[in-house]
Amino acid sequence: MRTADLIMTKRDGGTMSESDVRAFIRGYTDGDIPDYQAAALLMAIFFRGMQTTEFVAWTDAMLHSGDVLDLSDITGFKVDKHSTGGVGDKISLILAPLVACAGVPVPMISGRGLGHTGGTLDKLESIPGFVTALPVSRFRELVATLGCGLIGQTPEIAPADRKLYALRDATSTVECIPLIASSIMSKKLAEGIDGLVLDVKTGSGAFMRRYEDAVELAKTMIAIGEGAGREVVALVTDMNAPLGSHVGNALEVIESCDVLRGKPGVVRELTLELGVEMVRMGRRGGDRAAIRQELEAMLDDGRAMARFAAIVEAQGGDVRALYDYTRLPTARHRVELRADRSGKVDSFVCNDVGRASMMLGAGRARKEDFVDPAAGVVLHVERGTRVQSGDLLAELFFNDDRQLGAAVALLRASIAVGEGGVEVPPLVLTRL
Ligand code: URA
Repeated sequence: MRTADLIMTKRDGGTMSESDVRAFIRGYTDGDIPDYQAAALLMAIFFRGMQTTEFVAWTDAMLHSGDVLDLSDITGFKVDKHSTGGVGDKISLILAPLVACAGVPVPMISGRGLGHTGGTLDKLESIPGFVTALPVSRFRELVATLGCGLIGQTPEIAPADRKLYALRDATSTVECIPLIASSIMSKKLAEGIDGLVLDVKTGSGAFMRRYEDAVELAKTMIAIGEGAGREVVALVTDMNAPLGSHVGNALEVIESCDVLRGKPGVVRELTLELGVEMVRMGRRGGDRAAIRQELEAMLDDGRAMARFAAIVEAQGGDVRALYDYTRLPTARHRVELRADRSGKVDSFVCNDVGRASMMLGAGRARKEDFVDPAAGVVLHVERGTRVQSGDLLAELFFNDDRQLGAAVALLRASIAVGEGGVEVPPLVLTRL
């Protein structure tokens, strides 16, 4: 089919055939189909959506546009987790070693942060010496010996997605559920995993603000994964408040290490919820309560921390920094934010906490921006905390004060101190 006819089919609400989808992805990746035609097709998809047969073929074509890892020689059912991204979401740093410690191999290939959301790679790279760009052979070795490797995407994984994502970014066609789902899943399916646990976030700090959209995204990703013969479970989780107290790269390493050493709270809770799903999947079943107890013990007795330290060491990182935080990048400046009234913390504008942290240097507005590993925010309150006027709400850490005024104002406005009585939603809203 001519590309113009394919665009017309979609424009008019028709269904693209599997072979046409494959020919399009191949043609665009090879440079035979120009950007203007691809952009027109993306916009038609944006408005018309995609049928299951279309997005399954679209994902499969993107997945096979590059290298697909084969980890079948590593014993065990290999499981990864993917989060759709949030503020203070450091779960992977704790979850990956924890699940590996429980005997389930975790080949984890992560991304960088963009916009108000952070990325696992930036967090890991704030540990001095930590290398995320390992050759695949070394990654394979780490998964086989330590049960886990933590690397970034290689340019060879799903190159079609890289090219299409850049075009979507430039044509305002990113916010389209089948395109998001196929973009995420093409990269995850290329990792050589047998199963995947998805953490689909919803709320003011998430990509999917509306619960209904998060559920639809989760269902679309499950359909793609199952269509590709993988097991997929999704938890739709609350992202109306930052996940834990620390937001920013080295700061999140600190909180992760605290949780790996037994610190209670919401980060530990979500790690356990996702961990139970991953371990059950990896072991092909098991009693939830018993698995949870097992994982709790590993956090409390130091086994999970020891596994994280072993992974950090194997990937070139300075293990001493996990025990002595002064060895992590440290900001030169700190500013306190104090309550200007008494009351109860009712809510957060969660994405604005992320944006404030980004203004201090912790995140990037564009892919090529530099990230300051030391910058970020530490919250001293959570939803429901009672405060008196003058109490400490948050600390801001930074080296570059160019946007400090705006960051302080945004952070202050993002923490609503009121009369109380606002209900905190459950952490896990649905399991699909
Ligand atoms: N993350 C991805 O990898 N792709 C998208 O399209 C959106 C978020």
